[in-house]
Amino acid sequence: MKRYKNVIRILALALCFTFVTSAQTVSDLIGEVNTSNLDEILNEFTGEVTTIVGGNTVTILNRVSSSGNDLAADYLEEKLSSYSNLEVVSDQYSGGSLGGRNIVATQVGATNPDDIYVICAHYDSVANYCADDNATGTAAVLEAARVLSQYCIDNTIVYALWDEEEIGLVGSSDWADRASNEGKNILGVINLDMIGYDKDGNNNIPIHTNSNSVSLKDDLIDILNTHSAAIGLTPEVVNPGISASDHGSFWNNGYKAIALSEGAEFSDLTPYYHTANDRVNTLHLPYFHKISKYLMAIVATKAGLIDNSSCSLGIESEELNNISIYPNPTTSVINIEFPNMSGSISLELINAMGQIVYKLDASLAKMTVSTDKLPNGMYFLKIRNDERFIVNKIMKN
Ligand SMILES: [Zn+2]
Repeated sequence: MKRYKNVIRILALALCFTFVTSAQTVSDLIGEVNTSNLDEILNEFTGEVTTIVGGNTVTILNRVSSSGNDLAADYLEEKLSSYSNLEVVSDQYSGGSLGGRNIVATQVGATNPDDIYVICAHYDSVANYCADDNATGTAAVLEAARVLSQYCIDNTIVYALWDEEEIGLVGSSDWADRASNEGKNILGVINLDMIGYDKDGNNNIPIHTNSNSVSLKDDLIDILNTHSAAIGLTPEVVNPGISASDHGSFWNNGYKAIALSEGAEFSDLTPYYHTANDRVNTLHLPYFHKISKYLMAIVATKAGLIDNSSCSLGIESEELNNISIYPNPTTSVINIEFPNMSGSISLELINAMGQIVYKLDASLAKMTVSTDKLPNGMYFLKIRNDERFIVNKIMKN
């Protein structure tokens, strides 16, 4: 039985490897950016439509008042937690005027877990709506997280959504100062702030750098040139760039950081800046989509895609590494064996849109999950044992 099982597993790995090899390039990930998703997040996050937070239908009326800001933070925390492979922290810090809360999700690199890239945007605002400033940057970060979290990567990516940027970079300063004190090896920071307005239609993307970040800026231009046909933007380097956004908190700590932001020297900035007229229907959505694809290209390139489907995602432990999952690809059932497992175990089967299609708390040594009725496609089996979890890709054929 044991030998038979191993044969199936080796066969399954070989099949799976073939599948992932053909689907796992930066170009493929750019193609996975879903513009409907992006627009839906924009509309939900600016209160143009209702959304569901904590199981309740709600409207995020603003991200200024304590209640509106808290609801927005809860929305972000739920969204990021629904993606298969992220550790999400609601990072309540002291200081500021609102009782600030950064929402920070980490995707651990399998090869270089201590080499970190930070992809970030502020989510707070100064008035109702504030779609361009900065629901656009927030949505781009969420969509990059949704796509990339489905893949194994070399380096660690931190997806951060900052609070209280508008009252003086409070949230990002708190986090960047702590990261520096802890000696975190942050290799680069990409900040998105106002990426939805392009009245002159020139598709220019201002890249704001300082002298210390020029090498990162050069990398970003190389990435744009490599994928220019799929992205469709023209770079416009601003050096020295504006410092009045969250990348400034990282500059202050000596880290390399870049901002992508529409207004170079305010020449093509939304005229509705910092007013309640900054609404989704004033944006140039194709421009916003292009920058979101550019962000995907940057993140996927810097993360380093691992061309190997046997790489398991998540935070591992000895017990979790001994789990057997077979057959994979599957047609009708998945068997899961947990030898020597102590503590509680929960299983979640998650589809590519981040929806949980099966959930079970288990205490058995072996389990069988029926996949008969599931549509074909890629799934993620998330197995949690106390504080640790792993995620394995499962193909249903
Ligand atoms: Zn802003």
